[in-house]
Amino acid sequence: MSKSAAALKQQQDLALFENAEHENPLTSLNYHFDLAANLLKLEEELQQLLKQPYRELHVQIPVKMDNGKLQIFHGYRIQHNAVRGPYKGGIRFHQDVDRDEVLALATLMSWKTAIVDIPFGGAKGGITVDPTKLSRRELQALTRGFMSKIDLIVGPQRDIPAPDVNTDEKTMAWMMDEYGKKHGYTPAIVTGKPLALGGSLGRKEATGRGVVFTIVEACRVYGIDLKKSTAVVQGFGNVGSFSAKFLHESGCKVIAVSDVHGGLYDQKGIDIPSLIEHIRLYGSIKGFKGDIITNDEIYKIKSDIVVPAALGGVITASVAKKLECKLIAEGANNPTSKDADLILHKKGIPVIPDILCNAGGVTVSYFEWAQNLQQYKWDVIQVNDELKKVMTKAFGDVYELSKNHSVSLRTAAYMLAIDRVAQATRLRLI
Ligand code: NAD
Repeated sequence: MSKSAAALKQQQDLALFENAEHENPLTSLNYHFDLAANLLKLEEELQQLLKQPYRELHVQIPVKMDNGKLQIFHGYRIQHNAVRGPYKGGIRFHQDVDRDEVLALATLMSWKTAIVDIPFGGAKGGITVDPTKLSRRELQALTRGFMSKIDLIVGPQRDIPAPDVNTDEKTMAWMMDEYGKKHGYTPAIVTGKPLALGGSLGRKEATGRGVVFTIVEACRVYGIDLKKSTAVVQGFGNVGSFSAKFLHESGCKVIAVSDVHGGLYDQKGIDIPSLIEHIRLYGSIKGFKGDIITNDEIYKIKSDIVVPAALGGVITASVAKKLECKLIAEGANNPTSKDADLILHKKGIPVIPDILCNAGGVTVSYFEWAQNLQQYKWDVIQVNDELKKVMTKAFGDVYELSKNHSVSLRTAAYMLAIDRVAQATRLRLI
């Protein structure tokens, strides 16, 4: 065993004993980066360059609240890498947003755009705020304040934000409008916009649709019959609800779903389209047929496929030890801790990693950006067909690499992404 392989093995064994429940979001990222970079024999200087972000912006956003008082919010935009194209990544509004989380998510974006081979780099933004506590007017003022503060580093050829947790097409409309005040009509400044403002058909569903494209491919190569399978989905927002909907349409029985308020369980299978309609009408799952479960219980339910589609860090070592599924599809970003990932690998449970699994959203964001630059609109069939091509190819590339190197899908995905970004860096800088 070489020195570096021995060091890695020691690191892996130690990690199994650490069993940390809540790790820093950068821990697993750096771990997976080092593992892939060593296998690629990546030059030391490129390792240093690719582990660091290009630029970090931390801004204060003062907002006059409805009660007349001034409240100061904190926002971040972190640009990780743009050697393959403009920075690209969502904006998150959440009370737990901090610099390390935004940096981790920005880094994931660089790898994600490389895996699906679209001409973007990686960035992420966020504001530390619980948006449910703000009125619509306050939220709009906060969003516009944030956009005006990051204006100096974004642009349709520089950095293009998009929605993420607790932000949506309305948020993007305000951001586009605010940017337009200084720069004129610029729909390509953000993606995930309303259709009437230059959004793309199929964008809203794209991440969930992409998740299910990768699940279909994984089922094919690992011999899982999707039509005879059961699934649980954590998170019932954009990614979770559409992942559940497309799984349901593929013939898979979705037996449990949950959101921040709790969950629903029905062993016979939940009627997902009716649940989506119920939530649209009544605002929550309350009153829908099935047993009410707590958030913690979702990972205790035995199912074939597990789709985390809420926040990061939810699959901890202790959750991983108990999981008995056949496949995990990471709709959320960074849902699996480093230790949990090692445990799942040892248990032989394949994990479709976030940087592959949920890349459908940024892929259709790329289609939206391209349509905006051309002032041209694709029909939804074209969007969905192109998305399927991209996701299927990306899964195939990662799977082949994982077989050839006898590594997990995650390590293979990191290897593919880092190699592509490193190649572009060498061509530009060396
Ligand atoms: P969203 O705001 O639309 O939905 C988030 C969901 O998670 C909500 O249903 C919320 O109730 C639920 N949730 C929050 N805390 C929870 C908890 N403790 N337990 C259970 N559920 C909880 O956000 P989204 O856009 O669907 O994003 C979800 C995840 O997918 C995030 O990790 C995000 O980074 C990732 N992602 C989103 C996109 C996209 O296009 N929107 C693309 C790629 C990755």
